[in-house]
Amino acid sequence: MCGIVGFTGINQAAPILLDGLSKLEYRGYDSAGIAVRDGSAEAEIVKAKGKLKVLREMTNDGNAVTGTCGIGHTRWATHGEPSTLNSHPHSSDDGNVIAVHNGIIENYQELRAKLIKKGYVFHSQTDTEVAVKLVDYYYKKYLGTPVDALNHALVRIRGSYALAVMFRDYPEEIYAARKDSPMIIGIKDGESYLASDVPAILKYTRNVYYIGNLELARLTKGNVIFFNLDGEEIQKEMKTIEWDAEAAEKGGYEHFMLKEIHEQPKVVQDTINSVMKNGTISFDSVGLTDEDMRSIQQIYIVACGSAYHVGVAAQYVIESLTSVNVRVELASEFRYRKMKLIPDSLMIVISQSGETADTLAALRMAKDTGIKTLGIVNVVGSSIAREADNVLYTLAGPEISVATTKAYSCQLVAGYLLALQFAKARGEITDARFDQLLAEINTIPEKIQKILDDDKERIQWYSAKIVNIKDAFFIGRGIDYAIGMEGSLKLKEISYIHSEAYAAGELKHGPISLIEDNTVVFSIATQRDLYEKTVSNMVEVKSRGAKLFGLTTYGNYAMEDTADFTVYIPKIDDLFAGSLSVIPLQLLSYHVSVGKGFDVDKPRNLAKSVTVE
Ligand code: GLU
Repeated sequence: MCGIVGFTGINQAAPILLDGLSKLEYRGYDSAGIAVRDGSAEAEIVKAKGKLKVLREMTNDGNAVTGTCGIGHTRWATHGEPSTLNSHPHSSDDGNVIAVHNGIIENYQELRAKLIKKGYVFHSQTDTEVAVKLVDYYYKKYLGTPVDALNHALVRIRGSYALAVMFRDYPEEIYAARKDSPMIIGIKDGESYLASDVPAILKYTRNVYYIGNLELARLTKGNVIFFNLDGEEIQKEMKTIEWDAEAAEKGGYEHFMLKEIHEQPKVVQDTINSVMKNGTISFDSVGLTDEDMRSIQQIYIVACGSAYHVGVAAQYVIESLTSVNVRVELASEFRYRKMKLIPDSLMIVISQSGETADTLAALRMAKDTGIKTLGIVNVVGSSIAREADNVLYTLAGPEISVATTKAYSCQLVAGYLLALQFAKARGEITDARFDQLLAEINTIPEKIQKILDDDKERIQWYSAKIVNIKDAFFIGRGIDYAIGMEGSLKLKEISYIHSEAYAAGELKHGPISLIEDNTVVFSIATQRDLYEKTVSNMVEVKSRGAKLFGLTTYGNYAMEDTADFTVYIPKIDDLFAGSLSVIPLQLLSYHVSVGKGFDVDKPRNLAKSVTVE
C-alpha cells in the first residue's frame, strides 16, 4: 500500500532511497526505514516511527550510511501498530534475508504458526516479518537461488504484495516480486531502481519495466532479469514514461479522488478477504465472539459525516437480518446527550482516520458505562483502534482525497459482514441464506468495476449538463435514503452546490414546497419493496417541474418513463445495493466539481481528519 524504493548502482544508495521515499509521501505513512549494504558487508538497517524527517536526522540525510545497494520503505500500518519495531525493513534473525513489503499477507497467522514450529522467533506484529522468514526458511531448506526461495515462499502466500528483498549471499543485488500491489523497475547506465510508484524514480530515469503479477525480478547494477513463478526467465519490453511528475503521483488519474474511486473494487475485496477464513466469515482478528453477539440486545452506531451515513445504511441491514435494534447517532450530538445506554449493548464507532474527535469522545463515554465497543477504522494504531475493545479494520489503504470514497465503501462492506455474522451467531439466519448473502457480498467488487467500466462516460456527460444548478435534492427510501444522504454530502462538499437528502416519504411534510421548474432531484430506487413508492414521489416532484435523475437496478426500465436521465446498477441482493448505487453518485459529484474548476481533492474549509470538535 505504501512506498518502496530500491537502488543498486554506482552512487551512494541512502540519499537516493530517502529522496525516492519523499516522492511517495503523498500516499500517507506512519514510519520509514532503509537497509543499505556496502559491497559484501552486513547491511545496516535504520528505521523509525514517524516522518521521513526523523530518518533523515538519524542518518544525516543518508550520508551516515555507506553503500551502493539498498532498499527503503514508508509503512502504512495494516498489521501491528505504527512503531519502530514494526516498521520495515524486516530481517531474518541472522541477517540472511532482509526485505520491505507493501500489501497484506492474508494467511500470515497460519504461516507464522508453521515457522514457529520450525524454530523461528517473531519480534514484530507484522505480516511482513512472516514473509521474510518464510523466504529465509526456503532459501536454507532447498539451498537454491534467491529466485527459487522466493518462488517457494510466494506460492504459499495468499494476499497482495510488492516485495523488495536483499540476500546476504548476493551483495549488490535486489530481488523483487509482486502480486496485486504495484512496482516498477527503472534502468540507467550502471544503475537499477525499484519503486512502488513512478514519482520515486522519475528524477533518475524514465526507462522502466513493469513487473507483472506473480513475476519476479533480479536487479543488478544497470541490469534486470525477470522470472515467472516456475523460475523461468521471461522477456519484457522497456517502456518510456511520458508523464510529468505530478501526474505520476496520481497513477495517471487527474485527481486522487478519481484514483481512489477506481481503487474501490480492490480495497473492498481486501476488506472482505480480511475476515474470510475457509470460505466463511471469521471475526477472530476482530475479537468480537459469537457469544458476545448472542448476548447483545441493542447496537448504537456513532459516527460523523460519511461514516454516519454508513451507519444509517448498516442499520437497515442489521435490523433486516437480526432481532437486534440499532440506533444511529451523530457523534457530536450523542456526546452531549444524556442517553441511558442499555447494559447488554454494543457501541460501534466508525472513523476512517480513527482520530475523529467527536467519535473518540463518544467511544470513551461508552467505555465509561462499561458497554462493549467496536471500532470500524482504517488507520492501524489510531486512537480509536487502540481504545475500542474490538477493531474491524477496513483495508482501504491511505486515502488522500478529503472527500471519502474508498474508505466509505470499505466501511459499508464491513457493516454487511458484521450484520451477517451477528445473524449467524444468533441463529437468526439459515445456512443457505447466509451462504447466499456471503456469495452476494463477494460479487460487490466486480459489480463496482462494471459500473466504473460502463457508466463513466454517460455520467460525465450528464454532469456537464448540471454544473450550473444552484440546488439539488436526493430522495430515496430505506437503504436508498442512506445512499442519498451520502450522494448529497459528496455533491455539496466538493461542488459547493446546495444539496439536501430527504427520505422520499418526507417530501410532502415540507420539502416539496422547494420544488420549482428545473429543480434537479436525484432519485434512488433500488429497493424492490419500496420501488413503486419512490417512483410515485418522483412523479409528484416531476409534476411540479423537477428534472429527475433516476438511479435503479437493471431490469427496472420503466424508470425511463419518469426520469429524465437514468443510471442502472447491476442486480444484487437489495441489502447490498448501496455499495453499487453510491458509485455513480461519487462519479457524478467528482465530474461536477471538475466541471466547475474546483480543487476536487482539497475542498475549501474541510480537513481530512477532523480532530477537533
Ligand atoms: N502489511 C505490512 C505492515 O503492516 C505492510 C504495510 C504497507 O503496505 O505499508 O507492515
